[in-house]
Amino acid sequence: MSLPPTQPPPDQPPAAAPSRRPVRSAAPKQNWTITNGIVTILTVAVLAASLFTLWTPANLFSNQMLDQMFAAWQAAGTPAVTYPSATPADKPVIGIVAGHWKNDSGAVCDDGLTEQEVNLKIATLVQQKLKKEGYIVDLLSEFDPLLSGYRALLLVSIHNDSCVYINDEATGFKVTAAMTSAYPERAARLTACLSTRYAETTKLSYHFGSVTMDMTDYHTFNEINTETTAAIIETGFLNLDRDILTNQTDLIAQGVVNGILCFTRNEDLGKPTSQP
Ligand SMILES: [Zn+2]
Repeated sequence: MSLPPTQPPPDQPPAAAPSRRPVRSAAPKQNWTITNGIVTILTVAVLAASLFTLWTPANLFSNQMLDQMFAAWQAAGTPAVTYPSATPADKPVIGIVAGHWKNDSGAVCDDGLTEQEVNLKIATLVQQKLKKEGYIVDLLSEFDPLLSGYRALLLVSIHNDSCVYINDEATGFKVTAAMTSAYPERAARLTACLSTRYAETTKLSYHFGSVTMDMTDYHTFNEINTETTAAIIETGFLNLDRDILTNQTDLIAQGVVNGILCFTRNEDLGKPTSQP
């Protein structure tokens, strides 16, 4: 929109200050709106980039930008949480999915050990440990009816990788966040907490290069409420990590719990956890 700069409208005196005209004053406002829009787009782009580059150890251990955003979110106050769950709750609810439970076996070992039973054992221990910390914890099956629109402080789905020998590098864990989250910075923070604390606790290493579409496009992420911060962890490979997964299951579960507590307590990722 523009007006002739030198010719005032005939019904106004020539001496009227041009800067008082509404059209003139509207111009900077419009520019500001456009600039603000670009800033918003850039912010989203940076967040998306952070999520996709999060899987490198350097970023996992020193993502100060995410730490600052999470701190800002916490400073703004966590909303009172009274989410519907298996147990009516006035305390924060945490959802733990035992991968494949009540649906299928998942990976199967030659001697009959199934991924599903390992997942369930770990998930049950995680539930017990988090309950001791004062949380309401729902133990959910792979396609649990509760998952539709599920609202909770966070949700973690526990899986394990193949029992087939692939190569000597097929060992370690993987974590992926829900990209559909309404708060990507929280999903990134949960992923960083789980990866860091799980590695510290179990001494297993992050397995690069094998995060699959099954993880990034995990069906549960599309079922839950987008405000529920969610992640999926593959706690190890059933072949090379079988010993720690089945004989030190309590330690495996503690690794997941330490990751979750790191998120709920907003722990400094640069310092080791105080949990056993
Ligand atoms: Zn699985």
